[in-house]
Amino acid sequence: MYDVIVVGAGPAGSTAAKVLAERGLHVLLVERHKLPRYKSCSGVLIQKTMDLVRRYYGQDVPLSATCTPVENRGMIFTDDKGREFRFEQGGLNVWRSSFDNWMTEQAAASGAEVRDNTSAISCEEQPGSISVTLRGESSCTEQARYVIDCEGVTGVLKRQILRNSRDFITTFQTFNRGTIQLDPHYFYAYLQPELSEYDAWFNVKDEMLVLGVSVKDTSRIKQFYQRFISYMETHHGLQIEQQVKAEKWLMPHIRPGCSITYGQGRVLFAGEIAGFLNPMGEGISAGMESGYCVAQAVANHFDALDMIYADYQRDTQQLKSYMERQWNFVGRMAGTFSEMII
Ligand SMILES: Cc1cc2nc3c(=O)[nH]c(=O)nc-3n(C[C@H](O)[C@H](O)[C@H](O)COP(=O)(O)OP(=O)(O)OC[C@H]3O[C@@H](n4cnc5c(N)ncnc54)[C@H](O)[C@@H]3O)c2cc1C
Repeated sequence: MYDVIVVGAGPAGSTAAKVLAERGLHVLLVERHKLPRYKSCSGVLIQKTMDLVRRYYGQDVPLSATCTPVENRGMIFTDDKGREFRFEQGGLNVWRSSFDNWMTEQAAASGAEVRDNTSAISCEEQPGSISVTLRGESSCTEQARYVIDCEGVTGVLKRQILRNSRDFITTFQTFNRGTIQLDPHYFYAYLQPELSEYDAWFNVKDEMLVLGVSVKDTSRIKQFYQRFISYMETHHGLQIEQQVKAEKWLMPHIRPGCSITYGQGRVLFAGEIAGFLNPMGEGISAGMESGYCVAQAVANHFDALDMIYADYQRDTQQLKSYMERQWNFVGRMAGTFSEMII
């Protein structure tokens, strides 16, 4: 019998597992992929993320998780009228597989049991506990008092529990050898509706030029991506010599009001699956912060479910309001996000 089973070893899950283990709880962290697992990401850690790493993990992001240029100096957004907005802020450029794996190792070092190659496929609540069916090298059912579900965007478990469907934004990005006339220390986002149905972006990782677009209708990926490449060739002298890799991923489609699903019974949600996602490169910090808050709430009120929910909602209120302001802000910058203006 575990005190808590945490599902998903991303920033939300590893942070939650670490906090719970440090508070003396018996924790199992399950991850469906083999660790270190891959996650499509721009890998920009803003100042807030680095501050949270220091606060929650007691140390700085290890240099072994970074890629070049190590220093990120901020973000440059181009709005739908072609105007540039610069957000200067020191940050780091990391590979997510290394950074997330480091957080999972820290959770394990704090006493959390980590099982990779293991998917949570269903759960069933009984009075006072919950059983989770796990499928991995061998399938089994484990019992716990609570589940903290940090599955990220796909949320198989969450969909099974709430019986709801989710809508997604699809991201497509390529890694390329080539040249461009842009400063590699910045992350660039382009909000013109002719370039994507959400946003398009450019950044540099280990000398590879990363170019991506996000769409609501997946049949339009190729069309938007080609337009974006032409735009970058014309405006920034992009020359691609070789495409190294291409990948598709999903993001939650955040709706106006940024509603958050805190949980259902003994299953609490944190990170992207709960709806915590910020448009200004703050998915990682939002995941970590919500994972931290839910874990503290569980540890503080282990025998009082209503108090857990009350604390979790109260402690993430600021994060939620900040998220709403940020989505509202990008909504004013571009037609693709205008639905977010409150
Ligand atoms: C293209 C792209 C670029 C991005 N760039 C940035 C950026 O530069 N900076 C930033 O801060 N954010 C960025 N984000 C957002 C950020 O990646 C996410 O918001 C963040 O990873 C969410 O953390 P999480 O812990 O909630 O979920 P995740 O990091 O997705 O982790 C969830 C984990 O759960 C596992 N899992 C899922 N289901 C199960 C199951 N049933 N059983 C067991 N394990 C399961 C998954 O394998 C995964 O490892 C980007 C997102 C995308 C798509």
